[in-house]
Amino acid sequence: MARSYVHEARRRVGPKRKRIVPIVERLRWEHADAAIALTFRSPLELLVSVMLSAQTTDVNVNRVTERLFEKYRRPEDYLAVPEEELQRDIFATGFFRQKTRSLRGTMRVLIEEFDGQVPRRMEDLLRLPGVARKTANVVAAELGEPQGVVVDTHVRRLSQRLGLTKQEDPVKIERDLQKLVPREYWGLFPHLLIWHGRRVCDARNPRCEVCVLNDLCPSSRV
Ligand code: SF4
Repeated sequence: MARSYVHEARRRVGPKRKRIVPIVERLRWEHADAAIALTFRSPLELLVSVMLSAQTTDVNVNRVTERLFEKYRRPEDYLAVPEEELQRDIFATGFFRQKTRSLRGTMRVLIEEFDGQVPRRMEDLLRLPGVARKTANVVAAELGEPQGVVVDTHVRRLSQRLGLTKQEDPVKIERDLQKLVPREYWGLFPHLLIWHGRRVCDARNPRCEVCVLNDLCPSSRV
């Protein structure tokens, strides 16, 4: 019974290849303000903000970086203070010991190998200590050169509900999305899903009745 219901819902909305562009276009219209919620003024500040945002909220990171970025302006500044001082300065973002180690390691590599500049290629970003795929993806996309699709909890939930992937693992979800989403939208698409997830397609109470995607979504309750 459940299987035939799912099958029927998928048939109703049609193949994902035909739905993906209308999905992007409607979400762009609905969430014209969708953008990264971190505050930064340079590639270095972007990288630091994204690294600090692990396991905490963007609001919390912005609160900490407001002062942090006045004091630490160049990669060298993160190495010029004792480790404990940097730990104190980022304490409120949580996991401050590990984040301090990653930040200092990253600054060292930036200075030694990249002339103090933040690289834009994924393979270079992934060489920075403490920078995993998600961080690298966010940074590359914000610097105008998306090379993958960021998959966070909202992107995962919405991709599954919209029938864009059947996978659970973020790496496999990203692979499915890379095949499906036109490349020019790789940077924007995660922001759209994140904002739609926050505002409409809530984890527990999706508001399908007001959702602009309800005729394109196999999980719609209306
Ligand atoms: S129709 Fe419902 S389940 Fe589908 S994306 Fe919209 S809110 Fe989420």
